[in-house]
Amino acid sequence: MLALHGTGVSDGIAIGKAFVLQRELPEIPEYAIPREYVEEEVARFQRAVETSRRQLMTIREHIPANAPPEATSFLDAHLLMLDDKMISMAPIDTIRSQQCNAEWAVKTQSDVLCAMFEQMDDQYLRNKKVDVNQVVQRILRNLLQKNYDEHEKMAAGEIVVADDLTPADTVMLKHNRVRAFVTSLGGPISHTAILARSLGIPAVVSAHSATRYVRPGEELIVDGKRGMLIIAPDRHIVAEYRRRTKDILRQRRELNRLRTSRATTRDGHRVSLLANIELPADVRAAAQAGAEGIGLYRTEFLFMNRPEPPGEEEQFRAYLKVVKSLPGKPVTIRTLDLGADKQVDGGRGGATTSISVNPALGLRAVRLCLHDTSLFRPQLRAILRASVHGKVRMMIPMLSSQDELFRVLDLIEETKHELRRERQKFNPKIHIGGMIEVPAAAISADLFAPYLDFFSIGTNDLIQYTLAIDRVDDAVNYLYDPLHPSVLRLIALTIEAGRKARIPVAMCGEMAGDPRYTSLLLGLGLTEFSMHPATLLEVKKIVRDSDAGRLTHFAKRLLKVRDTREVHRLVEKLHQR
Ligand code: PEP
Ligand code: MG
Repeated sequence: MLALHGTGVSDGIAIGKAFVLQRELPEIPEYAIPREYVEEEVARFQRAVETSRRQLMTIREHIPANAPPEATSFLDAHLLMLDDKMISMAPIDTIRSQQCNAEWAVKTQSDVLCAMFEQMDDQYLRNKKVDVNQVVQRILRNLLQKNYDEHEKMAAGEIVVADDLTPADTVMLKHNRVRAFVTSLGGPISHTAILARSLGIPAVVSAHSATRYVRPGEELIVDGKRGMLIIAPDRHIVAEYRRRTKDILRQRRELNRLRTSRATTRDGHRVSLLANIELPADVRAAAQAGAEGIGLYRTEFLFMNRPEPPGEEEQFRAYLKVVKSLPGKPVTIRTLDLGADKQVDGGRGGATTSISVNPALGLRAVRLCLHDTSLFRPQLRAILRASVHGKVRMMIPMLSSQDELFRVLDLIEETKHELRRERQKFNPKIHIGGMIEVPAAAISADLFAPYLDFFSIGTNDLIQYTLAIDRVDDAVNYLYDPLHPSVLRLIALTIEAGRKARIPVAMCGEMAGDPRYTSLLLGLGLTEFSMHPATLLEVKKIVRDSDAGRLTHFAKRLLKVRDTREVHRLVEKLHQR
């Protein structure tokens, strides 16, 4: 028996047989092609590209309807790459000019492309090298081994172990009803990890050397919560894990009973638990979890994977769909947060951020909207028009200065006048909130409060900007700490500013949906939690078992603790109780 530790990226336990996905390609042969056969070689290359395209389209068709938008977007990106001249035409030139075999022409071109991406300053573009590699490998596999596809050999219930997986692989894993996966490489925010979470497969990444230690067919246990891979477990361990699996299922059933109960603490303190969504279709999962509304609707996903941004009418219809499916419940529509790692294909976010050295500090979110009001105005109109149909709230991301807020408020007023002139209906009293996710906004939250109807703390960015760690950079992930004293102080400051100004303070960053922090956040006085629907019921259970008064004392004391390790220890102890 051997246990390997990695990073758990998707919860759950799986017990099953190993399927080791071998990705190594045989040596790429290099040989000359006689002049009269050159066009035949070109045709062979084109057939391999076509086969690759068909394979990707098949995978795309098999994506479950409830899969996240990322599932299709990665495949679309790979399909687009197949159309790119650098991949589909350049090797043809090489075959013709050097009279070499197709595999060699593809390899030479892939080396050129990888070197090109390697030199890019922009981390996001540098990462594109991985996608190029995956597409090139697919063409090479088709050239070398015809239609050979390892996925076909996988059986339902197996646990896939690989060095790395492409997003397309991950979708196929789900399709083949694979039970879990483990990779030697990758990080918790890689494409593959994001997909695993939303597809609901237990997964562990960066379990170094996993492919070296695991033999095909060997029994494995994957513990997605603890980030552990157990190879050839003895029967006691298997029995223990079977017991735990039963416990998890029982807990899920019990939690489901809380769907319709209120999120009220034992001492009568009421909080709201809402859901974060990316697309209108996500409302279903939110309703199933008993969410009291939508605390964050990330509208930028409507702008991705398309050449042109959606117009006002399309946006209006999308917002209306969400509002109508949650009658009487609040729907917080966040204005566009494009830029940084959230790029669009044909939209302007990509054009502006790709030249930024530090895109996360660049023209992102409200900055981009104010810079390009032709992008912003149709959205403001669409949100305002949707506001007569339900309890719509508008939320502005990434505010960093009062002036920025004033400019947004002026634009909203102008848009209201415009709509009035056109006799279009809207709610004139629509609530406007601001995301507090830049340290400057948290420190001066009292200056923003008089002009806003609510705050929502975005801990993902607040932590990134406070601790100076790039959210998408694996190398500094270990510094990401929601309990860092500076983060806790900024959260406390924001809640306090909201309390004094008598405006509600919500939180919609990942911290709000992490049960480890629920008690602490209750103690700090948070009244609205918005999260991925998967953890909502667990958070509700903690709220219902809590004593808010006692937690307030705890939080007050915690903010005074001067040893950060002690802060971690106390929060962990509180959670375990
Ligand atoms: C956040 O920053 O915490 C947040 C909720 O926004 P996003 O993750 O979309 O940047
Ligand atoms: Mg954010």
